[in-house]
Amino acid sequence: MSKVVKFGGSSLASAEQFKKVGSIIRADKERKYVVPSAPGKRFKDDTKVTDMLYECYDLAEAGKDFKAALKAIKERYEEIIAGLQLELSLDEEFKVIEKNFKAKLGSNYAASRGEYLNGIIMASYLGYEFIDSATVIFFDENGDFDADKTNEVLSAKLTECKKAVVPGFYGSLPDGTVKTFSRGGSDVTGSIVAKACKADVYENWTDVSGFLIADPRIIENPRGIEVITYRELRELSYMGATVLHEDAIFPVRQEGIPINIRNTNAPEDNGTWIVGSTCQKSKYVITGIAGKKGFCAVNIEKDMMNSEIGFGRRVLQAFEENGISFEHVPSGIDTMTVFVHQDEFMHKEQKVVAGLHRLVNPDSIDIEADLALIAVVGRGMKSTRGTAGRIFSALAHSNVNVKMIDQGSSELNIIIGVANEDFETAIKAIYDIFVITKL
Ligand code: ADP
Ligand code: ASP
Ligand code: MG
Repeated sequence: MSKVVKFGGSSLASAEQFKKVGSIIRADKERKYVVPSAPGKRFKDDTKVTDMLYECYDLAEAGKDFKAALKAIKERYEEIIAGLQLELSLDEEFKVIEKNFKAKLGSNYAASRGEYLNGIIMASYLGYEFIDSATVIFFDENGDFDADKTNEVLSAKLTECKKAVVPGFYGSLPDGTVKTFSRGGSDVTGSIVAKACKADVYENWTDVSGFLIADPRIIENPRGIEVITYRELRELSYMGATVLHEDAIFPVRQEGIPINIRNTNAPEDNGTWIVGSTCQKSKYVITGIAGKKGFCAVNIEKDMMNSEIGFGRRVLQAFEENGISFEHVPSGIDTMTVFVHQDEFMHKEQKVVAGLHRLVNPDSIDIEADLALIAVVGRGMKSTRGTAGRIFSALAHSNVNVKMIDQGSSELNIIIGVANEDFETAIKAIYDIFVITKL
């Protein structure tokens, strides 16, 4: 039996947090492979080491003096080392980092040092072997994660090491350059390591007692989710429930390894189990709610568009030609709306509009900005009548105007579009009707 344990930034922000992590690992001898993040925030307005590294590297890149910024980063680690009373010096490591910043090795390299250094400390603290992720996690020439090569090299390496620390967030390109996953990517590393050692479970330790029905920053004390499927979780994490990186599902899903989200500050809590499928019904009709602000709706009208073959394809082509991905495309007989990310779309707006005129010759195009999308997700919705109706009435009672509704054919989720300013009210109303009053 083996367990892979990934610890997030806030779980490793200080020596005190490291000690909690140490006790968790020592409490179970199956916790053999550890994936640490970089030190996160120690308190609310603190800065994550990853962000400090990006800023420090920006100075280096601009040819400015970055010594003080690098010193502040070094101090974060030294505080941890001192608090753990380790005989460890990172002086040599920081000399190399300074040299590589001067040589402008790239912001990916810079950011990766956060987990790299924390991994060295963790290995020394636990007495585990340290494996540099650049030697076992690979990307291909196009910068895409190379799952086959990684799995081959990493599994071989892990069979040699009984207990090891593999830092999260980065790997290397074919030419040896360091590359990171997107932000929050240590979750992905944990999943890759779990697959490579065929772990029985992938434990992901963070600062909340599992996946909660809604974002705790919006709903006070939301209830926890006991069991959630990979598919449900992906819908929620894609839509902003950032507990787990949305891509962390894939490696473990192939092997059927469950993920258990746990709280470093409350290790006795069971947390959330993320599984392939389950016969366990969720307590409520919905499993979770998540959402994001900052979308634009491009509304295209043309009489009889429904009978024009290829109309939809040509509409989307106008977005594709400008490198814009779309989120949702609800349509009517004579209208089609394309939801896009506002920040991506803003600068190319007029080019897309011109493209639409050229490609589909619409009667009118109307753009609405500052919209939010909310996903209501649940495997239980399929067998329950009236879910959409309940959402509508809850929103109407809260005076929220619904701009769009889109139900996926899997009946696993319902997506609702509202104005940015109604976002929080809408989430509260939906949470209330399904979880609190259960009307
Ligand atoms: P880590 O640093 O451990 O990787 P993250 O900050 O990435 O942790 O993820 C945990 C945070 O996700 C929580 O502190 C919480 O603020 C936020 N969060 C957003 N949506 C949810 C949700 N539905 N359930 C739990 N936490 C959520
Ligand atoms: N440290 C990285 C970040 O802040 C990766 C992670 O924490 O998962 O995004
Ligand atoms: Mg995270």
